[in-house]
Amino acid sequence: MALTIICQNKDPKPWVEELLRKDPSLDIRIWPNDGDCNEIVGALTWMHSEGALQDYPNLKWASSMGAGVDQFLNDAKVPAHIIITRLVTDQLAESMFEYVQTAVLYFFRQLDAYRNDQIQKVWRPLPAPSKLNLTIGIMGLGKLGKYLAEQFSNDGFQVVGWARSQKNIHNVTCYDQKALPDFLAKTNMLVCMLPLTEDTENILNADLFAQLPKGAHVINVARGAHLVEQDLIDALDSEQLSGACLDVFRTEPLPKAHPFWSHQNILITPHISSQTDPREVIPQILENYNRLQNGEVLLNLVDLERGY
Ligand code: NAP
Repeated sequence: MALTIICQNKDPKPWVEELLRKDPSLDIRIWPNDGDCNEIVGALTWMHSEGALQDYPNLKWASSMGAGVDQFLNDAKVPAHIIITRLVTDQLAESMFEYVQTAVLYFFRQLDAYRNDQIQKVWRPLPAPSKLNLTIGIMGLGKLGKYLAEQFSNDGFQVVGWARSQKNIHNVTCYDQKALPDFLAKTNMLVCMLPLTEDTENILNADLFAQLPKGAHVINVARGAHLVEQDLIDALDSEQLSGACLDVFRTEPLPKAHPFWSHQNILITPHISSQTDPREVIPQILENYNRLQNGEVLLNLVDLERGY
C-alpha cells in the first residue's frame, strides 16, 4: 500500500520529509515517477490534471493539499468511488485572519489614502475613523469565514455574515442565501471567503457592487473566479467602491499586462493569505490514512455534488 503526491505548483519534498519523519514505515511516491500504480491507495493532490486519478486502479482516497478543492471540481473524470477530503486546521484559519485583519485595518486606518498622499507629498489629516461607521461583511461562514467573523467581533467590529444556510454566531448578524441584498446593504468592508462552485463563480460582479453602500471596500481571499475583473475596475473608477485587496486571481501568476498591477486603489498579493504548512497538516493526513485502513469515516470530507 502506498500514497502518491500529485502536485504541479507546490514542492512535494517537504511533504514527503514530514510524512516520513512522522512515520518512517510509510511508502510515499511522487507523481509522475510513482512506480506501480496498482500499489497506490491514497493520493495527495494540488492542481492535478484532468483524469490523473484514473491511472490508479486501487485508489480509494484523495486529499487536497489545501483547504480548497478546485482540482477535483475541475476534473470531470474523478472516479465516483474515491473518497475526497481536504485540509482544515486552526493554523490555516489563524493565518487567514491575520491577513484579512491586516487588509481591513489598512483600509480602515486609511493607509491607502495616506500612501497616495505621500507619493504626492501632501500633508492631509483625514477625519478619524470609527468602528461605528464600519461593518465587516463575511461571505461564507464555513471553517475560515466563521473564524474571521468571530475574531473581528471579538475585536469590537460590527460584523455581518452570509452563508447558504442560516447560522447562529455570537454577536454576528447572519443572513442566509436568499437574504443577500440585506447582507450587502449593511456591509462596507466585504470579505469573500466562499468556496468556488457553479453558484459562486462571478458572484463579485457589478450587480453585487451596486448593492453595497457607496465607498465600500472588497477583499477577495477565496478564488480569482469569484470576481468579474472588469466590473471591479469599473466600480472603483466610478467610486462606487473605494478600494480592493486581492490575493487570488483568475490567472496566476497575474500576467504582467494586467490592469490590476497599476490600479492605485487595488492592493495585490500573490495567493499567500493562508499557506499550508506540511508540519501542521501531516497529522491530519496520517489520521485519515489510518482511518482509511481501518474502514472508519474520514475527517473533512468533501461533497463534490455540493462543490465544497
Ligand atoms: P467551507 O468550510 O467549506 O465553508 C464554505 C462556506 O461557504 C459555508 O458557510 C457555505 O454555506 C458557504 N457557501 C457555499 N456556497 C454558498 C452559496 N452558493 N451561497 C452562500 N454561501 C455559500 O470552506 P472554508 O474552509 O471556510 O474555505 C473557503 C474557501 O477559501 C476555500 O474553498 C478556498 O477556495 C478558499 N481558501 C483560500 C486560501 C488562500 O490562500 N487564498 C486559503 C484557504 C482557503 P453553508 O455553511 O450553509 O454550507
